[in-house]
Amino acid sequence: MGGLFSRRKNSGVDAEAKAALRSFDHASRASLLQSLEKSDLGWFWASDAEGRLVYLSDPAAQRIGRPFSDINGRSITEVFQPVENSEDRGTQRPLKFQLAARNSIKPVTVKLDMGEGQSWWEIAAVPQTDSEGGFMGYHGIARDVSDTFQSARDAEKLSRYDSLTGLSNRYRMSQQLGATLTAFKVSKRSCAIMLIDLDRFKQVNDTMGHPAGDELLKQVAGRLQRVLGDKVEIGRIGGDEFQVIMPDEDDRGVLGDLGQRVIQMVSQPYSINGMRAVIGCSVGIAVAPFDGIEEEELIKAADLALYSAKGGGRGQFRFYSSDLRDQASHRHQIEADLRDAIARDELQMHYQPIVDAKTHEVACVEALMRWNHTDRGMISPADFIPVAEEVGIIRELGEWALNEVCRTVQTWPGDIRAAVNVSAVQFASEDFVEIVKRALSTTGIKPSRVELEITESVFVGDMERALRVFHELKDLGVRLSLDDFGTGYSSLSYLRDAPFDKIKIDQSFVRGCTAEDNKNEAIIAAIVSLATALGMETVAEGVETKDELAAVTSEGVSHLQGMLFSRAVPDADIVARLEAGELHYVPRGPEKYRAERRTEFRKIGLIHENDRYNVFLRNISKTGAKIEGLLEVPVGTDIVIDLGGGQLAVAKVRRSEGFSQGVEFETPLISDGADGLCTRHRVSPYQIEAAGRPLRALNDEAVAAITGVMGSNTKAFVEVEIT
Ligand code: C2E
Ligand code: CA
Ligand code: CA
Repeated sequence: MGGLFSRRKNSGVDAEAKAALRSFDHASRASLLQSLEKSDLGWFWASDAEGRLVYLSDPAAQRIGRPFSDINGRSITEVFQPVENSEDRGTQRPLKFQLAARNSIKPVTVKLDMGEGQSWWEIAAVPQTDSEGGFMGYHGIARDVSDTFQSARDAEKLSRYDSLTGLSNRYRMSQQLGATLTAFKVSKRSCAIMLIDLDRFKQVNDTMGHPAGDELLKQVAGRLQRVLGDKVEIGRIGGDEFQVIMPDEDDRGVLGDLGQRVIQMVSQPYSINGMRAVIGCSVGIAVAPFDGIEEEELIKAADLALYSAKGGGRGQFRFYSSDLRDQASHRHQIEADLRDAIARDELQMHYQPIVDAKTHEVACVEALMRWNHTDRGMISPADFIPVAEEVGIIRELGEWALNEVCRTVQTWPGDIRAAVNVSAVQFASEDFVEIVKRALSTTGIKPSRVELEITESVFVGDMERALRVFHELKDLGVRLSLDDFGTGYSSLSYLRDAPFDKIKIDQSFVRGCTAEDNKNEAIIAAIVSLATALGMETVAEGVETKDELAAVTSEGVSHLQGMLFSRAVPDADIVARLEAGELHYVPRGPEKYRAERRTEFRKIGLIHENDRYNVFLRNISKTGAKIEGLLEVPVGTDIVIDLGGGQLAVAKVRRSEGFSQGVEFETPLISDGADGLCTRHRVSPYQIEAAGRPLRALNDEAVAAITGVMGSNTKAFVEVEIT
């Protein structure tokens, strides 16, 4: 039998085929369909005009785990559910709409979930019409694609998600951010991104092993998800770097609070295979369209903010601001010059007295490094120490400082002690104890005259090693002091085991401890009683005012350090005092701490009606500012202060005297994460665009142009020069 498809030279083909088709009658067709249905190669279904399922091949119903009678008459959309696959959203019109339009249904994957486990089918269908063209329902086919669907989904997950933490990976974050920014540019919405970088994660990884590091990252991911909620997209975009996309968020008050909460949560101790680990984190925040419109621009801004947060000491957040670009290049310069600073003899040690709280007599001095740069003048250690830590020359600087201090103090009259700061990086180096030992022996200083100031961050990572090194140092005869207590990885538990002689209460607790509603004094009291119980001395750092002095003294701290007594001075000044026997320091300074009032002197803009003026900002607090440069502005005048970077603060003049005015802000400013203040909201680049300028990230000229555009001939106030 040649069958349908065999060719014969002899031309009887057509006739034979027709005969075969004719013989394929209704009964044969029905059996063909049935065998297809049974084979699971394909199933059939049909709906009525109302979209109810009226037929489904038996084997298909069996696959769902129910007799067809159970699902007969249910709506098709209830049986064939959309697949929640975010990547398909938007590209595929939902089945519901296709059905409603009574269009043919092109092959589409649907989910079946009738309580007996899920399966995924591919369905397709064509609409049926009666002779008048009226819609009668669908005839469709279906097949089970669960296996391929699931493996495709797993593969997709792998390529878009981080297999360790289950968060989005860098690829997916970039896709999401790109798509969000493009869409938001059209709908004029804002979007914030947050970069989170773990501090000292490497230490945990190195000392506790990679599996512990992996476990830690998983726990960090879990905490981030808890703090940030599910309205944002969180990704891990590098070893210990995370990124968060926050659509429709531009309130820097909210963002700052969130940043702070993230830092707090991540800095809580972790338990990993029964061991404790502590890390910290830094956060950089940038907001589109203010800080960048395109993805690359925005990421760069957040990166700079993160970099600045890390440089400002660990455990901080920062918003992006255009100043950071300048700071970044400044930092590069520091880096380049620092390597030569020792050789060029540009480093010096200055000494700040630490006095006894009862007698106000100097008991000890803290050695603080000073860098007198040939071209730039004095550079603060707060600026160059972090750079030195990062580029790896802190060990060299630290060793130099230690030797310099031992050598100098050795020559001083009397028995006064000197404290030397030790960076955590320096502390972590293998030969640290050896270096201290050598400094003591080569200079011949009595070890008990040397105190090492160490911050809490040395506890991060291998705590056993830290404790061992502490005891080795104590065995050399030096004293140990815990610096900046309460700022970083505050955990009191290690105090019990660590042999510290002294705790230094960080300035941030002393600052403003007398202000109302301030819990700092209670915290100081708690630290003092704990230290006393453990037989340790306490130093209140950064005492600037008489009311702070009274407060910390009444809480019982044993020692005091701060501008109120003396700033850090050159070696010769200390020697002169010691030789004259003038050990007593008289507190000199302001009576009272003024709430977060920062003195400044910078040019800002003031907008009144349609005019823009240049004025000087003298000081600023959350609630108001003092400005100079306009004559005779009546009390009660409504103005807008332009603080730069699109930050406009609506204000009212409350006091006015000659060229100086005190103004009160309508909405209080908020902390910018550093010691500065900023407005919650900024002028939006969309507003600037609406005024006929191209859309781009904020710049001051564009803001100034739209805020003071009109300009009248008769300005209400006279501008005066201030020097
Ligand atoms: P620190 O260890 O907390 O040092 C105390 C800082 O507070 C010093 O800043 C000191 O000048 C300042 N200070 C003292 N009294 C007052 C006050 O009443 N008000 C205010 N606002 N500040 C006060 P300095 O000298 O700028 O040093 C900054 C930081 O740089 C130090 O903080 C320390 O962490 C680091 N550093 C300084 N010298 C060295 C060093 O030789 N080695 C290392 N590793 N770090 C150093
Ligand atoms: Ca210190
Ligand atoms: Ca300190």
